[in-house]
Amino acid sequence: MKKIFLFYIILFTLISFFVNAQRKCGLPDYIEYKINEEPELATRIEQNKIKLKEKAENILEERKSGKNERTSSITAIPVIFHIVIDTLKYNQLGGDAGIKQRCDSQIAVLNRDFNAQNADSIAIPFGWKSLFASSGIHFGLAHTDLNGNSTPGYEVRIISSIGFNGWTNHYSDAKHSTLGTGATSLSPGLDAWDVTKYLNVWCINFLDGMGLGGITLSKFFTVSGGWGWTNPDNEEGIVLKWNVFGKRVLSTDNYTPTGTGTFFDEGRTMTHECGHFFELSHVWGDDGTLCPWSSGGRDDGIDDTPPQSTHTSGNPSYTITSGTINDACQYYGTVDTQHYGIACLDFMDYTDDTGMHLFTPQQAAAMVSCVTTVAGVDGENITLVQHPNLLGWPSGVSKIEVDRELKIFPNPSNGLINIVYNTNADKLNKISIIDVLGNEIYENSNVFKNFNTIYLSNFTTEIYFIKCEFEKGIVVSRLILNNK
Ligand SMILES: [Zn+2]
Repeated sequence: MKKIFLFYIILFTLISFFVNAQRKCGLPDYIEYKINEEPELATRIEQNKIKLKEKAENILEERKSGKNERTSSITAIPVIFHIVIDTLKYNQLGGDAGIKQRCDSQIAVLNRDFNAQNADSIAIPFGWKSLFASSGIHFGLAHTDLNGNSTPGYEVRIISSIGFNGWTNHYSDAKHSTLGTGATSLSPGLDAWDVTKYLNVWCINFLDGMGLGGITLSKFFTVSGGWGWTNPDNEEGIVLKWNVFGKRVLSTDNYTPTGTGTFFDEGRTMTHECGHFFELSHVWGDDGTLCPWSSGGRDDGIDDTPPQSTHTSGNPSYTITSGTINDACQYYGTVDTQHYGIACLDFMDYTDDTGMHLFTPQQAAAMVSCVTTVAGVDGENITLVQHPNLLGWPSGVSKIEVDRELKIFPNPSNGLINIVYNTNADKLNKISIIDVLGNEIYENSNVFKNFNTIYLSNFTTEIYFIKCEFEKGIVVSRLILNNK
């Protein structure tokens, strides 16, 4: 009897533990905190939503009439990861190799999610299929630093403390190596790289017990009228909890996540935070549990996400596949026939990484408006897409020659792939093949100088990415496998 009792106690504890693990992003609390400080901010946030929606509608109209080709011309945004953690966490991530894998997989996840290439989109129910949209925005690890030197796209600083406090100032200490008047006193952080050229991401441990996975400081809060602050401190960017950035890759990663990590180890915390970086709001409007038409209620400002009362936790995919999930706000006046329930499968809700699958067309267009020119007005993040050179090779290496001399064939391939590379422009160190989920399915670090052959006849017919890592830079090409 006692044993049975003990069993139930353990079971109950485990269930409570897992049920309690839910996504939390810092934006709602931050907005509330700032509105308390300055009530006028609430109006400016709503005005910003209207402006963003107008721009999104312009883009969608142009696309409908076949005029808008701008997304195809958008180049990737250079991303730099600043990892600021203690030795224990560095080791838990698998050291430098594990961190590199996390950075690589994070970029793969972003490119997949922002371009409607996520394989788990198969779980999107019928009523939502037409709302599965691609933004056309791409991301890449920065390969050139501020001084024109080669960089792997991440930097690591090992600190003696176990983490940072300060969600109300977006963990400012982690974003600086010096602080104070004249920046004289030392700070444990890593400085932002030029925020007009790089998307800065800090990966740190949060100490303040908020249970956050990430928090984002977008241009709205700095130069675009949030409160007129001109961001003198270069703090724009995304802060992620150290164990939810990138995908957890067991082969190199010693960290066995518990609690939040178990549900957020597919790299989608950054997909969600990037949505905020491009000014998207949460689908329920960050108003607690109110409907948009209630007193004090708010909407996300996006027309093709239905009204929603509050956030969704866990992974309700199985339910939306077989039916709908509705809430108190979904029906307003007439029955909403456009959707299958609330947008709990949207990247801007709080579901687990495995439960979120899409951005809607208007959300995608709203984000695109941040990196393009709409009606003669430049998007607030447009400078980020104007430095493709930062993704390529440092000066002195002929990227053109590398591109010209690197030959990958046949493509499509029936399982045999030849890679020919006949130049000394840069040394080829490693060849890897990555699937659409960001998993590395093949790796060779002992490549021959001129000719390499890879056999992939056991892999399924699908699109893959073949990645050639040179001494100074990386070339990623799409590879179509057509195994019979
Ligand atoms: Zn959020």
